[in-house]
Amino acid sequence: MKGFQVSVSSYNPADPGDLVIEVEAAGGAGTTAAVERARAAQAGWLALGAGGRSAALGRAADAVESHADELATLIVREVGKPHAEARGEVARTVAIWRYYAQAPYAASGAVHEPAAGPGLLLTRRRPYGVAGLITPWNFPLAIPTWKAAPALAVGNTVVLKPAPEGTACALRLAELAGLPEGVLTVLPGGGEEGAALVAAADVVSFTGSTAVGRAVVAATTERGIPVQAEMGGLNAAIVLPDADIAQAAAHLAAAIAGYAGQKCTATSRVIAVGDAYEPLAAALAKALAAIAEPTALTEVCGPVINEPALDRLTEAVDTAVAAGATALAGGNRIERDGWFLEPTLLEEVPAGHPLRTEEFFGPVAVLLRAADLDEAIAVANDTRHSLSTSVHTRDLDTALAAADRLDAGMVRVNAPSSGVDFHVPFSGAKGAGHGPREQGQAVLDFYTAERTVTLLPAGSPR
Ligand code: NAD
Repeated sequence: MKGFQVSVSSYNPADPGDLVIEVEAAGGAGTTAAVERARAAQAGWLALGAGGRSAALGRAADAVESHADELATLIVREVGKPHAEARGEVARTVAIWRYYAQAPYAASGAVHEPAAGPGLLLTRRRPYGVAGLITPWNFPLAIPTWKAAPALAVGNTVVLKPAPEGTACALRLAELAGLPEGVLTVLPGGGEEGAALVAAADVVSFTGSTAVGRAVVAATTERGIPVQAEMGGLNAAIVLPDADIAQAAAHLAAAIAGYAGQKCTATSRVIAVGDAYEPLAAALAKALAAIAEPTALTEVCGPVINEPALDRLTEAVDTAVAAGATALAGGNRIERDGWFLEPTLLEEVPAGHPLRTEEFFGPVAVLLRAADLDEAIAVANDTRHSLSTSVHTRDLDTALAAADRLDAGMVRVNAPSSGVDFHVPFSGAKGAGHGPREQGQAVLDFYTAERTVTLLPAGSPR
């Protein structure tokens, strides 16, 4: 229907009557046109050279930093993140822009000797053109930045399709970044715009759910273009009897209930080894109950993103309890404005229940028993996707054995499973990640294609 426009809107999860933004969706044709504008802008962006791109990325960092309060408030309002975590995300966003502002000066290749005779063999990495970035809502500034900044640093232009729930954050980020026309475009929209971007971009980086990530990988593979996809996970924590149980409980409570468990690195399965079970169950239940208190609920946990998410979580908890599980903490929706669920710990959840096999993305964890470290590692590895596993022990040999044998993109010893360092490679194990790693220096290779250049003296017989 000519003239018909679909709109994208996002609402405050702590106050669902608060409409944060409503804008027109880009549409499929609008997405394709944005990619063409980005393609037209790419040569000029590359031609700025290392100095020009570095300076532009540095200015983006400064602009984000000087609007830190405004951005933190917007994150809290749009995606319900507790304020301290929102401030942390803004600070990390600034650090990521600064880190990749140095990347244009990194070596872009190497020099080799020819196999025979004089001359030079060079390898050189060059940008693909337009990077199509598709992001979720849970880190509405940091994830767009950790994809866009490296893609831009090496000379691509960027078209970013944020999750509808994080639209206002993404638009404000691009506005503050202040890059030249066509260099960083944000496209409001949903699945239609995401699919159109995948169909038109030259390189694609996706973060989001497993189902959508697999479709993105299939479509990009069909087109023969590079893709990386970071998807859902089911993260475990292993607690040994020799652990500092009080510290482990505090770390686990943060990893289960911090930002309502809506981090790809949140803990959803706690595996207590041997005698650790009883004291850990008691300490963790107490720590989670404390987060359900009104002040901590707002300052540590926060709401889940929307009503369907809350319904999915409460149904999962209810069916687990009906099947014989016991709630050691929480288990109920909180009667107040917004989409709040009590931080929840369940024991005796039957094998095969979805809470033991699927990602629910909420403040809910199951407590499992293991007789020894071998069994704990087997239980932790018994998943089709895992991003981060934490291990809690005072014994270095145990920590080393776990680090060797756990299937996880990140193994964190005596630390919560949640927590990401942007200057080291980041991705999941098994179905949680596809393609090259994100972040750190590794990702600069992902956003560039390597070519080999042979230089021989003029008149060379070869
Ligand atoms: P989602 O999969 O629903 O959406 C992610 C993005 O994909 C959004 O921008 C969405 O509009 C877009 N999209 C939807 N359909 C599409 C299609 N057919 N083609 C292309 N794009 C499409 O995920 P979400 O609810 O926004 O985020 C939560 C999920 O993200 C969780 O599963 C979480 O584990 C995951 N996540 C993973 C990581 C990680 O690094 N592994 C980090 C953060 C979040």
